[in-house]
Amino acid sequence: MGLIVGTAFILFIMVAFAGTAQETVVRSPVVTTENIEVVSDFPDFQRKTSTEETDTYYFSISTILTKSEPINQYIQMWTEKERDQFLAFVEKNKRNFHEEHLAKLHITVHLNAVTDDLHTLTFNVKNKKTEPRDGIKIFNLDLTENKILSLIDVFHLEDSNLVGFCSIIKEYIPDASSQGERLEELFKRPDQINWQINQNVFTLFLKDHDPFIKVEVPVERLRPYLTENMMTRLKLAPPEELESTLDPNGKYIALTFDDGPSPAVTPRILETLKQHQAKATFFMIGNRVQYYPELAKQVAEEGNEIGNHSGSHANLSQLSEAQIWQEIVGTNQIIEGVIGHSPVCFRPPYGVYNPLVEKVASENNAQIILWSVDSLDWQERNAEGVNKIVQETIFPGSIVLLHDIHPSTADALPTLMTELENQGYQFVTVSELLTLQGVSGIGPYYGVSN
Ligand code: ZN
Repeated sequence: MGLIVGTAFILFIMVAFAGTAQETVVRSPVVTTENIEVVSDFPDFQRKTSTEETDTYYFSISTILTKSEPINQYIQMWTEKERDQFLAFVEKNKRNFHEEHLAKLHITVHLNAVTDDLHTLTFNVKNKKTEPRDGIKIFNLDLTENKILSLIDVFHLEDSNLVGFCSIIKEYIPDASSQGERLEELFKRPDQINWQINQNVFTLFLKDHDPFIKVEVPVERLRPYLTENMMTRLKLAPPEELESTLDPNGKYIALTFDDGPSPAVTPRILETLKQHQAKATFFMIGNRVQYYPELAKQVAEEGNEIGNHSGSHANLSQLSEAQIWQEIVGTNQIIEGVIGHSPVCFRPPYGVYNPLVEKVASENNAQIILWSVDSLDWQERNAEGVNKIVQETIFPGSIVLLHDIHPSTADALPTLMTELENQGYQFVTVSELLTLQGVSGIGPYYGVSN
């Protein structure tokens, strides 16, 4: 410490000497103080506050001392850099400052425990009457590994992940900010970013208009990008394994209805399901949910599951990653806006997907669900034909592809369900069926049991 005070003092002498050569004003000497105290509630940490005053400037710099020397040195480098920049500024503009008008620098620090060995230091820099440098600086301390955490210790930020990762962040940036545009560039230099994380929220402080904007993203949303180490360190529970309430020896099938909701057909199908006390899964198109939100809501309220069937029924394998993102995540958001939660099942239009679609789906915890029985209702367009095809190809554990846009499908359903019931089948949602198969997590499912 003596060294720092000494350096500052020498600097002062030089400044004073240079000044007195032309001026007759008698300068007061530099007055320094240094105070070290234990941080309340944190016995392992000390707060050190240094102040310095001359007749041109005043600064007060607080920092936190940990038991880790490498961490202390790293932080000290930063506080010294802030101080030196301030002093250089004062030196350059010293004519502007005098006892009545001191240049002032205040650096305060707040310590926060995330877990036993992860702590966050938030420095607030107030630099009045100099350049507009007010701001914050955050250090995330890893006291087990004796280092300052970098964002790449927390997230997998390889180039291939940046589109998805940044798309999620953008969802949480206020509309008024232009920061979304350059986010991907920003994350290519993650050490420039002020951030903090706890079990629930990842917080970013982006420079914008004065002084910064705070972006809070639920950690759960970013889980696909978290490093394993960070998951352990944050003590995040693994994704919930759904307990199955179904009888392991039961004959279950999942009826699925795609491309709706449609006011002409969906209500008729709901009526039949209700009569059979059955549940089904409706893979809805985002655009149509926007047209018929009440109908979508009714489908969910009657105990059925709503899945994502893209926003515009495009062939996703021909789209860019950003477009696929819009088709899948945009639709999740539309559905969430209507029924209060995001779908967990996703069926790509035409059953067509490629590795990019799989990647975007997995980054959004959307399971890709195809089908094991194709009713061909889109081709047959007559109730008897649909009935015949389904009954000839059905087996326990099937996922049956139907469409709630063809009246003939609604015509087929009462007989189909009655006859299947007579064979001992029970109708459940896709998610329920998957719990029976002991399958949860992320990936494509075809409904093929065993
Ligand atoms: Zn479709």
